[in-house]
Amino acid sequence: MTFMPALSKKVLGLKPSSTVAVTTRALELKQAGRDIISLSVGEPDFDTPPHIIAAAKAALDAGRTRYTNVNGIPELRGAIADKLARENGLSYAPEAVTVTSGGKQAIFNALLALLDAGDEVLIPAPHWVSYPEMVRFAGGVPVTVPTTAESGYQLDIAALEAALTPRSKIIMLNSPNNPTGAVYPPETLQAIAEIAQQRGLMVISDEIYEHIIYGAPQVSIARFAPQHTLVINGASKAYAMTGWRIGYAAGPGPLIQAMNAIQSQSTSNANSVAQWAAVAAITGSYAFIEASRQAFQRRRDRIVAGLNAQGLPTPTPQGAFYVLSDTTSLHPDELEAGRIILEGANVAVVPGTDFAAPGRVRLSYATSMKNIEEVLRRLETLPRR
Ligand code: GLU
Repeated sequence: MTFMPALSKKVLGLKPSSTVAVTTRALELKQAGRDIISLSVGEPDFDTPPHIIAAAKAALDAGRTRYTNVNGIPELRGAIADKLARENGLSYAPEAVTVTSGGKQAIFNALLALLDAGDEVLIPAPHWVSYPEMVRFAGGVPVTVPTTAESGYQLDIAALEAALTPRSKIIMLNSPNNPTGAVYPPETLQAIAEIAQQRGLMVISDEIYEHIIYGAPQVSIARFAPQHTLVINGASKAYAMTGWRIGYAAGPGPLIQAMNAIQSQSTSNANSVAQWAAVAAITGSYAFIEASRQAFQRRRDRIVAGLNAQGLPTPTPQGAFYVLSDTTSLHPDELEAGRIILEGANVAVVPGTDFAAPGRVRLSYATSMKNIEEVLRRLETLPRR
C-alpha cells in the first residue's frame, strides 16, 4: 500500500495560484502543438536589458556566488533606499529595506510577521489572486472591500470604514492595481493613511506596477503615513526581470527585522547574482522603463478599443498591463467564458473568479501588438449569446 502523507489543514485550505495555473496549462497545450496565444500571466514580453545581463555576468565572473546578507547586499539596499528617496520622496535607511525572492516573498514574510490567528486584512476587490490565499495561509482573515467598474474601481473610503472591525490589522493596497489598472489619487491615499493612523493599522502598499502608468500621478501612501506603511516593490515588472525573482520591502524597523528573521529561517537570501543584476537595474538609465511604458500604452489603447468594438465591455485602465473584460455575452459564468476563449479561440486568459471579478476575465496585454491583433481576430469568431 502506498503511504499517503497527511497534509496540514493549512495547506489543504490553500488554493494554487490561478494566474500561474492558467499559464502552466497554456504552456502544456503549446508544448502539445496547439497554437495558443497566452494573455494569462502578467509578465513583460521584453528581454531583460543588456546592461542588466552584463552586470549579472560580471557578478558571476567575480565569484559573487555565495550567501549574502539575509536582507540583501548593502549595495542593493543602498540603491533601493536612494531610489525610494529620488523617485518617491521617501526616506529610508538601507537597514529599513529587505530584499526578497520576488515581491511575493516580501508580502508573504510581512503577513507572517504581522498576523495572529483571526486578524483581519482589508483588501479592495477586484484584487490580485494571491492576497487572500496568502492572508489565510498566515492565519488571517481576508475581508474584501468591493469597488465597481462604474467608478473606475476607485476605493470608496466609506466602504473601507464600514468594513473595519476591532480585528482589523492590515489594509492591503495595490496601486496601480492588478487586475483593474486603477490608480488611487493622493486624496484617497491621504484618507486611508489617516484611518491607518487613527486605528493603529498597517498598510501593505504593493507598488510593483508603479512605472507602468498612463498619465495619473503615482504617489506612495508612505508619503502620508510612513510609520504605518510597508512599501513592496521589485524588479520584475519595471525591468522585465520576472525570472530573476528580486523583490523588496521598506518599512518600520521592527517589522523589517521580523521579516528578516523569517527569511533567515526559510530562503536565507535572494539569489546573489540576481541581486547584482538588480543593482544595475535600479541605478541604471530610465530609457527602458519609458520605452516599455509607451509600448504598453499603445497596446492598451488597441486592446481596449478592439474588445469594446466587439461587444466585450472593457474599461480603460490607468496603469499596469491588464484589462478586465466583461465576457457575459460569451457566457454568464467567467470560468465557462475562459474555457470558451481557450477552446474556441486558442487564447489563454484568467477568469475573474479568484480576482473577485465575476462575469469578467483578465487579459494581459504585456505581449506583442501582432499577438493582440491576432487575439482580437480570434475572439471575433466566437459566437455571442
Ligand atoms: N502577478 C502576475 C500576475 O498576476 C504574475 C503571476 C503571479 O504571481 O500571479 O499574472
